[in-house]
Amino acid sequence: MSQARVVTIHYTLTNDEGEVLDTSREREPLTYLEGAQNIIKGLESALSAEDAGASLKVSIEAEDAYGETHDEMIQPVPRSAFEGVEHIEPGMEFQAQTPDGVQIVRVIAVDAETVVIDANHPLAGERLHFDVEVVSTRVATEEELDHGHVHGPHGHHH
Ligand code: ZN
Repeated sequence: MSQARVVTIHYTLTNDEGEVLDTSREREPLTYLEGAQNIIKGLESALSAEDAGASLKVSIEAEDAYGETHDEMIQPVPRSAFEGVEHIEPGMEFQAQTPDGVQIVRVIAVDAETVVIDANHPLAGERLHFDVEVVSTRVATEEELDHGHVHGPHGHHH
């Protein structure tokens, strides 16, 4: 069995149009535990054979990133479901309780009676491009493997 690692990376994420969607460059690098679904699987597998000092560009299809867009996750709900919210407009995000846990939904249309919400991940359906630098790697501890997350600097504190 290969030993799971704790990997620390700096990355810049762009979409097909070359727009920067996210970057770690102006903050702490990202640290993740291999095999724990801390990051999207396409990126984790692209980095699985890389060590500290490596720089690479990876393009990841939607299915290995945030998944395809599902039309059934776009649905109208009655305005009354938003009791207590005075002003609703497209682009707003709400937390919704679903059988799968808390989910972020985005408002995409509103009229007097109905709010159309989209529960797809904002990056669903997108091919993603990562420019990655591997900052460091180390072998994960037993405790980290038990917990499914990284401990210590840049990781989980509890
Ligand atoms: Zn823990």
